[in-house]
Amino acid sequence: MNPFNQLNFSGGPGVLPACVLAEIQQAIMEVPGTRLSLLGISHRSDWFAAVVTELEDNVRSLLGLGKNYHVLMLQGGATQQFSMVPMSLLRGKTQAAEYVQTGYWSSKPIADARREGPVRVIWSGESSGYRCLPTDDELAFSEDASYLHYVSNETVEGLQFQRVLGRDDVPRVCDMSSDFLSRPCEAERFSIIYAHAQKNIGPAGVTMVLLRDEILESVNRDLPDFLNYGTQIASHSNFNTPPVFSIYVTLLVTRWLLHQIGGLKKVDAINQQKAQKIYGFIDGSGGFYRGRAKPADRSLMNTVFELPSKELEASFLAESSAAGFSGLGGHRAIGGIRASIYNALGLAAVDQLLDFMQDFQRRH
Ligand SMILES: *Cc1c(COP(=O)(O)O)cnc(C)c1O
Repeated sequence: MNPFNQLNFSGGPGVLPACVLAEIQQAIMEVPGTRLSLLGISHRSDWFAAVVTELEDNVRSLLGLGKNYHVLMLQGGATQQFSMVPMSLLRGKTQAAEYVQTGYWSSKPIADARREGPVRVIWSGESSGYRCLPTDDELAFSEDASYLHYVSNETVEGLQFQRVLGRDDVPRVCDMSSDFLSRPCEAERFSIIYAHAQKNIGPAGVTMVLLRDEILESVNRDLPDFLNYGTQIASHSNFNTPPVFSIYVTLLVTRWLLHQIGGLKKVDAINQQKAQKIYGFIDGSGGFYRGRAKPADRSLMNTVFELPSKELEASFLAESSAAGFSGLGGHRAIGGIRASIYNALGLAAVDQLLDFMQDFQRRH
């Protein structure tokens, strides 16, 4: 095994469990029991139908959802959902959709939504540089909105909601791309949850979309089949050739979460421990390392921090890379340092990073 894989602190594509990488390595040669390579196996095979069913069941089971939720595996990334959501829920409507603008990723879908209908941005952190999230008294949700859209974890700025937003009588739509299956999330309170795989639960190529039954009554069906939730549901994520590789790897990750980690409460406890170690260290560094986000809004998935100068940040990145760590550079939109600590990033890797950070501070 290549040990550097487990020191991948990238914001995405993220680290995957070593045991899953080993299984994929074998499956490339032969998927157990099929005599075929994972890369050449038919998406119309019984084997693949069973993969889709098991992945749907694993996601429902991890989140405690019933059969009233459809679990879709779509292509086009989270970005395709930026437009598919308003095409389906906003086109032709007069009631505005409400968007909460908390950072880089929640800003992106607003333009796509505006193409389809009226949009109200009910809070924006843009002028304050996206260093904090809104409190409850800063948010006024209307009862007649078409839906509410927000991002649970701002991957770039390292901000994460610790509560569910909005009203129970307005459909909630949430982009959970960077914290999906990282903690229990009261999933049954959302009409649509979408999350691509490549941050926390698999490789790029597949995006999980969870839809509650009732929302289907009001979705627009006058859309190209490929962009139509109804068609995708009817064909069980097999409308056209799906990304079999990405879906299979995501299945292996959900098996690991269920059977090796023991579910979302367990993984949440580990994720909290990792984040507390990093933030505790940063806060105790006497101002050498400075957390970017307001402490109450800090993300458990993406720890974003700064050093006293751009030169020190550049040395930090060069030296950490030479020491075997990867992916520590902040997003190109804001710079700085970002250590992403997704589910599969182990406690041992966090300890190694903190040793490096301590040593770096001592030397500089
Ligand atoms: C990375 C990211 C995206 C972009 O997803 P693509 O699959 O590249 O389209 C969207 N939303 C969030 C929260 C992200 O972190």
